[in-house]
Amino acid sequence: MAHDVDVLVVGAGPAGLAAAQAAASQGARVGLVDAQPRAGGQVWRHDLRFGAPAPARRSIAGLAGVEWFGGCELALANDGVLLGDRADGPVALHWRKLVLAAGARELLLPFPGWTLPGVTSAGGLQALAKQGWPVAGKRVVVAGSGPLLLAAAATLKRHGAVVAGIHEQAGAAALNRFVARLPRWPAKLAQAAALRLRLLGVPYRSGSLVVAAHGDEAVREVEIDTARGRERIPCDLLAVGWGLVPNVELARLLGCRLDAADTHPCVAVDDALRTSLPDVYAAGEALGIGGLDCARIEGAMAGYAAAGNTAAAAALRARRRHARAFAELLRRQFALRPSVRSLASADTIVCRCEDVPLSAVRGHVDPRQARLVTRCGMGACQGRVCGAALRELRLNEPGLPATTLSPVATRPPLFPLRLAALADFSFHEAEQGTDR
Ligand SMILES: Cc1cc2nc3c(=O)[nH]c(=O)nc-3n(C[C@H](O)[C@H](O)[C@H](O)COP(=O)(O)OP(=O)(O)OC[C@H]3O[C@@H](n4cnc5c(N)ncnc54)[C@H](O)[C@@H]3O)c2cc1C
Repeated sequence: MAHDVDVLVVGAGPAGLAAAQAAASQGARVGLVDAQPRAGGQVWRHDLRFGAPAPARRSIAGLAGVEWFGGCELALANDGVLLGDRADGPVALHWRKLVLAAGARELLLPFPGWTLPGVTSAGGLQALAKQGWPVAGKRVVVAGSGPLLLAAAATLKRHGAVVAGIHEQAGAAALNRFVARLPRWPAKLAQAAALRLRLLGVPYRSGSLVVAAHGDEAVREVEIDTARGRERIPCDLLAVGWGLVPNVELARLLGCRLDAADTHPCVAVDDALRTSLPDVYAAGEALGIGGLDCARIEGAMAGYAAAGNTAAAAALRARRRHARAFAELLRRQFALRPSVRSLASADTIVCRCEDVPLSAVRGHVDPRQARLVTRCGMGACQGRVCGAALRELRLNEPGLPATTLSPVATRPPLFPLRLAALADFSFHEAEQGTDR
C-alpha cells in the first residue's frame, strides 16, 4: 500500500518521537515508521509487566495527528520513497522531507564461550526480560562497558533476577573522572544516583574484564580478569555489552555521507542536522552515541527543520552542544582497553550466523574475498554484529587486512524480505517508471 506524507520520520525512539511531534506542531503531514510494533525505541521499549516510563507515555501521547506505521522494517529506498514490509503486506512511503532517527545497536565482541546458550548482550537480555522472558530467580552476571550495564542490571533486578555482579572494564581512575564531571549534567547525575539506589546490594567492579564463558550445553560460569587475578563466578545467564554502534545502513543506502573519524561510522550532518542530501535530516544515536537527552533535543531540531521552522531548530543548538559534551565524556571515560580486543582466540567464532572462526577471516586481501571465501557477514544479520566486531578487533590485530568487512550491510535489501514484497516493490517501481 502506498502512503504520502510531507515529513517521514524513520525510527520511533526518543529522537524520532521528538522529531514527529515537532514537525506535526508546524502543521506538516507527518508519518512515523518503526520496525517495532510499538513506539519507544530501545530505551523506552514497552515492558509487558511494568509498562512504559512516564516520559515515554507523554511522548507517545503527543503524536496526535501523526500517521503511525508500526512493525514496518524499511529495507529498500528509491527516489523519494522508502519501502518496507509488515505483517499485512508491503508498504511504500513517499516523502518530501525525511528524518532519519534509526538509533544504535549494541557492540558485541567475540570471546571464548560467547556463543553458549545463556550468553546474550546486556541490552538484549534487558529487552527479553521486558518482553516477558522469565529471569526471576536466575543468577545473572552483567559485564562489558558503559552505563547500559547499570540500566540493564536494574531492569533484570526489577524482574526478579539475582544480579551476581556488574563487571565494568573501565578502570577506577576513569570512572572517578566520569563521576567528578557528572554535576555539569544534573539530570544525568540524578539518573545515575537513582540507578545506584535501585542496584543497592549488587557488587559493581571496575577494571574487571570478562574473558570467557564456560559450560557444556549452556553457560555455567564466567571467568573474569581483575586486578586481583582471575575469578570464576557461577551464573545461569551472562549479559555482556561493550557499548553501542550507530545504525547507518539506511543513510548509507540513501547515499548520505558518513563520518568515519571514529571506529564506527555515523551519519554526517551540518549544524542544522541536515545530511549531505537535500531534504534528508538525521538525529539521535545515528549521529554518534549521545544518550537519551541528546536524542530528544536533536529529534526536535530535525523535526522543526524538516517542517521549515529553522528558527525553532536553531534555538536548540546550545542545548545540543551541552548534551553532545556529555556524549564525549562517556566516549573518553568508557573507551575500551586494548586487552578487550584480544579476547578472541583463533578458534573463537566471530560470525555467528555462518559459524566462521577468527582464524578463517585472517589473511584475505580484501573484505570481498573474506566474505566470498568464508561467508562471514553474509548471514541473517548481514554483518551488523560481526562487521562491527571486526572493526574493533582490527585495531590491535595486524594480521587482519585494513579493510576487513564492511561494518554494515550496504546492499539492498537491508533486511531479508519476503519474495512477495520484493515482487510488489518491483511492480511499484515499474509503475513509477523508475530505473534502478
Ligand atoms: C539494546 C539497547 C538498550 C538500551 N537501553 C537503555 C536504557 O535502558 N537506558 C538508557 O538510558 N539508554 C538505553 N539505551 C541507549 C538509548 O537507546 C539511547 O540513549 C536513546 O534512546 C537513543 O534514541 P534514538 O531515538 O536515537 O534511537 P533508538 O531508541 O535506538 O530508536 C531507533 C528506532 O529506529 C528503528 N529503526 C532502525 N532502523 C530501522 C529500519 N530500517 N526500519 C524501521 N525502523 C528502524 C528501531 O527499531 C528503533 O526503534 C539502549 C540502547 C540499546 C541499543
